[in-house]
Formats: sequence, structure tokens, C-alpha cells
Amino acid sequence: MTREAPGLLLVISGPSGVGKSVIAHAIEAKLGGAFSVSMTTRPQNPKKETDGVDYHFVDDAQFDAAIERGELLEWANVFGHRYGTPRGPVEQMIAAGRVVILEIDIEGGKQVRAARRDAMTLFILPREPEVLLNRLRERRRDDEATIRKRFAEAQREMAEGEACGVYDHFIVNDDLERAIDEVTDLIESRRARMASHP
Ligand code: 5GP
Repeated sequence: MTREAPGLLLVISGPSGVGKSVIAHAIEAKLGGAFSVSMTTRPQNPKKETDGVDYHFVDDAQFDAAIERGELLEWANVFGHRYGTPRGPVEQMIAAGRVVILEIDIEGGKQVRAARRDAMTLFILPREPEVLLNRLRERRRDDEATIRKRFAEAQREMAEGEACGVYDHFIVNDDLERAIDEVTDLIESRRARMASHP
């Protein structure tokens, strides 16, 4: 006997520039997914970001209070600012049968893994590391020393992602459509298994 497709908590991690946002948005559109809106102490970019949509932008005291009240499913320091996932909306959306997408770093991934064994965790990798290096150069935002530092950080993250034992699947984003299809198939087969063994 099968039931309706059940809710699923989906963690997507990977180094910056690997294309995880594009994959996450495709999953949202294809599978009726829902993004969790994180809380962050990082400043808002008012030209590009809307409070409550892209992030909940808060100050340190508000972030501390959310931790204190146990309102965060996970949180971590990323590039000098704190980011966390509000627990309540995530649990409501899972209960409503949605695929809830968390685009979070490895530290957050570890905490979600520990808190929810039923989460599905994906790590996105580039075809080869140099793809990330080229992308950093194409942005023309940083000098060569900063680019090298960011690239070294991306390589460290990839090594940790593979070694930490948190991720169920490693997706190589060699071709975007193929990677999206692979993720879609993985989610659909996981949900089908959950539905037949509730
Ligand atoms: P950005 O400042 O560029 O929007 O995000 C920086 C990084 O923070 C992203 O690579 C993302 O993985 C991570 N991040 C965003 N939201 C969260 C969150 O709620 N928890 C954790 N642990 N990391 C997050």
C-alpha cells in the first residue's frame, strides 16, 4: 500500500560557485519544493535581497535569543557571520508533505544529520576543481591573492564534505540538466521508498 508522497528534508551543500542554488531552484520548481528562509546576522544587500524572503536579517541579540529559545534546527558561522535554520516553519512544511530545501554549509549539514536521521543530504561537486577557480576569476571581483584564498577554501570544503560522513549522495555538476535529473530521481525514489515503508 502506498500513501501520498511524504514530506522530505533536503540538505544541499557544496563549495561556492558550484551551482547549488540553480539546482535547488530547479528542484523547487519541479517537485513543488519549499525553501527554508534562514536567519542571518550578515548585512542585507538592499538592491538584491528582501528581508523575510531571501533571509531574515537580524542583529546579534536577536540571533542569540533564537538560539536560547531553541528555535534553530542548526546554525553556523560562515565567512564571519552567523546563519541558522528556523525549526518551526521547516517542521510545518515537512508535515504538509513538501520537499523542504536547506542550502547550508557543512557545519549545518552535520547538525541536521544528527538531529534528523530521515533528512536527505546532497553535496554538489564541480566536474574538476579548476571550474571553481575559473568562475572566481570570471566574477572579476577579487584580486589574485583573494581568488587563491577562496579557491583553497573551496578545496578544503570539498575534502571535508567527502570525509565527514554526513552526505548521502555526491552530485557532479558536469552538465546542469543532467545533474538536476539525477537529483530529481534520487528524491523521487527516496520518497517512493518512504511512502511504501512509512
Ligand atoms: P550568502 O551570504 O552568500 O547568502 O551565504 C553564504 C553561505 O552561507 C552559503 O554558502 C550557504 O551555504 C550558507 N548558509 C546560508 N544559510 C544558512 C543556514 O541557515 N545555515 C547554515 N549552516 N549555513 C547557511
